[in-house]
Amino acid sequence: MTNQIPQNAIQVFNNRDVSNWTQRDGQDANWIVENGVMSVNKGDIMTQDRFTDFILHLEFMTPHMPDATGQARGNSGVFLQGRYEIQVLDSYGIENPGKGDCGSIYNQFSPLTNACYPPLEWQTYDVYFRAARVNNKGEVVDRTRLTVLQNNIVIHNNIELPGVTGAAIDEQVGEPGPLLLQDHGDDVKYRNVWILPLPLSGSDQ
Ligand code: MG
Repeated sequence: MTNQIPQNAIQVFNNRDVSNWTQRDGQDANWIVENGVMSVNKGDIMTQDRFTDFILHLEFMTPHMPDATGQARGNSGVFLQGRYEIQVLDSYGIENPGKGDCGSIYNQFSPLTNACYPPLEWQTYDVYFRAARVNNKGEVVDRTRLTVLQNNIVIHNNIELPGVTGAAIDEQVGEPGPLLLQDHGDDVKYRNVWILPLPLSGSDQ
């Protein structure tokens, strides 16, 4: 919910181009950048940087698609560590948003409330992400947890994820992962994307 970028945050979108992003297969990203805004184009993109625990801020805007419904209406997605999708969709006005609507953790958790603005308005996601902890046998000893605010309203409050969502880059939940933004064929836009990496714990002093 911060308007100012914290001192140690990484501007993962540099506001000029997508040169520090790639497609899933490592090829150059093709998204279009104009005036500090990037638009979905020709495939998912992901950061070259990898993250474990972090705070993420981004802004997104869905297109106006009055003739489209459901998953066809302004679909994109924000994949944390490339593994957990927070849905981006035009779900404005839906009374009881479900597990596929905007703000959902796709197919796992519905948002607590519908915090959506109408299409063509900028909206924010602020995410407080704590990665899964895995022991040296590769077993998950502490599941991924997160809190999500949409437009400054809490839509997920310290939920524990049972695993990755569909279309995850992998299931190596103990490994750092990229931020991935989904191309679902719709003209969704993003701006002001930054990540503040966090240590796994604070000082013991
Ligand atoms: Mg999606």
